[in-house]
Amino acid sequence: MSVVIDNFLAVDRMLGEACAAAGRKRDEVKLLVVSKTIPIPVLMELYDYGIREFAENREPELAMKSAAMPSDIIWHFIGPVQSNKIRKVVRIAQVIHSVESLSQLIKFDRVAGEEEKNPEIFLEVNVSGEISKGGMTPSELPEIAATAVQCKNLRLSGLMTMAPLDAGNDELLAVFNGLRILRDDISVKTGKALPDLSMGMSGDFPVAVSCGSTIIRVGSRIFEGIERIPR
Ligand SMILES: *Cc1c(COP(=O)(O)O)cnc(C)c1O
Repeated sequence: MSVVIDNFLAVDRMLGEACAAAGRKRDEVKLLVVSKTIPIPVLMELYDYGIREFAENREPELAMKSAAMPSDIIWHFIGPVQSNKIRKVVRIAQVIHSVESLSQLIKFDRVAGEEEKNPEIFLEVNVSGEISKGGMTPSELPEIAATAVQCKNLRLSGLMTMAPLDAGNDELLAVFNGLRILRDDISVKTGKALPDLSMGMSGDFPVAVSCGSTIIRVGSRIFEGIERIPR
């Protein structure tokens, strides 16, 4: 079997173990393949294996891959979005994990309406307070979430965060539990169930699963040993 499929199955197994350890069902957590910088032939091995969802963090690469790969793929966008790229992202991505400001949210809603799209969105929250990370502050979240549930062309399904890459176990728990608590609080305030928490990556997903993650975004662990597209 190929290296990529092997790696994918190893991550899938680890996810199963993390779910079992947390007393959760395996089907409560989606393993989302982060395909950024990975060449199309490698992604097609996963496609041929049955994978139909991929996540990209830059618009030009998203556009290039979605044009070249089969049309039944669901594309997720997980990167920072510049205002002038919103339309291009909305045309392609069915799920957007990285809405990080009120102005961006409003533009996403308007553009989605114009493009007759109805994407699922996540509000990205900078729980750790790390300067280099994207996302709104926890104190900005209530107002933006209240607006998001009113957006006619967007479906708010939950919150997303990234933990610091060098975080130890205690900080990971604080960040991931912090996002869950914010989600619970926002659900009460808006009166809308927000089922999803997009949190956990290659280095920290077992902790994220123990804190209630419903989508883990995994790249490097699946593509270990694969030559990447230079950026
Ligand atoms: C790259 C990326 C990931 C995947 O990270 P890995 O450590 O490669 O698994 C997840 N989320 C976001 C937003 C990313 O940019």
